[in-house]
Amino acid sequence: MAQVFIADKLFDGEQLHIDVALTIDGGKVVALGGEPAADAVRLKGLLAPGLIDVQVNGGGGALFNNDTTVNALGKMSAAHARFGTTGFMPTLITDQVDVMQKAADAVSAALKEGVPGVLGVHFEGPHLSTPKKGTHEEKFIRPLSDEELAIYGRDDLGLKMVTLAPENVAPEDIRKLVDLGVKVCLGHSNADGKTAAAAVAAGATGFTHLYNAMSPLHSRDPGMVGTALISDDCWCGLIADGHHVSAEAMILALKAKPRGKVVLVTDAMSLVGSDEMSFPLFDRIVTRDGDKLTSTTGELAGSHLDMIGAVRNVRDWCGVELGEALRMAGLYPAQFLGADLGRIKAGSRADLILMDEALQVQKTWIGGQEVFSAG
Ligand code: ZN
Repeated sequence: MAQVFIADKLFDGEQLHIDVALTIDGGKVVALGGEPAADAVRLKGLLAPGLIDVQVNGGGGALFNNDTTVNALGKMSAAHARFGTTGFMPTLITDQVDVMQKAADAVSAALKEGVPGVLGVHFEGPHLSTPKKGTHEEKFIRPLSDEELAIYGRDDLGLKMVTLAPENVAPEDIRKLVDLGVKVCLGHSNADGKTAAAAVAAGATGFTHLYNAMSPLHSRDPGMVGTALISDDCWCGLIADGHHVSAEAMILALKAKPRGKVVLVTDAMSLVGSDEMSFPLFDRIVTRDGDKLTSTTGELAGSHLDMIGAVRNVRDWCGVELGEALRMAGLYPAQFLGADLGRIKAGSRADLILMDEALQVQKTWIGGQEVFSAG
């Protein structure tokens, strides 16, 4: 049965509408505008397309590496839906091949069972660079082999992303991954500019958490950072939490990149949407202090960021206009993934968020189903 809403304010991914009717049926938007039925439900606040997180390791107390199950993906989905995420790429950091296989099986099952918001899988590692390992476990970092290729080639995983270090994966192997339908992102890399550019020429289309765990820009070598900033066809992820990148570094990225090529990610760990203050990561413990996560070995270990928080941060710290900040968290990651999401228009999936004046999420719908309500 069709649901009809009247939104006080509706941002469709392109422009703002005031006092507009929205009709949803069969999980999709069937009409925007028009004469609303008398029993239409009024939505107070700002309705917008749901947010899409291409890098999220956990939530609701579940960390994907520690719990490669459909149940864990359900916890992540519910935890992040509270903060506006309606589509996400569960992200497995560098781990043993059997953990990767279990993660792939969980994603496949979640897609079959329709766990709300699961779009596919992001393997961050294991083909990374040890000097830029960050919180990844050195002993599991390794070159690409047929075992991982068999996982990346599976056709039951939805959308597929792999973050790799281009100095450790040859351009012909990057091409192979792209041919398997994988979105290749460069990250955790100490590559020089030439090596990074060769990977882009081979089909890599993204840079994972720009600035973090990558070779910096030098006067005579652009490194990973410089190559990311000048590669117009590549998207760059930003962890806009104020710990991973400064406002100035984010502003620089926004000035250098073409519009639409900077996307907000959370890199969230299990503590988002949970009261816990610490969790185990391999043989270390990661502890939360405010909104900062630090491992026992001292490095930043993911974030305590959520997607709507990232939107608020770039708006408040970088002077990004609200509509554009929402696009950086919705439409642009959808475009990176090649998914028809991030817009409210006739025919689009009804992935929606309702926010109050303070930009706090009040309600979330995924595929027309209300999955979160604050009140
Ligand atoms: Zn990382």
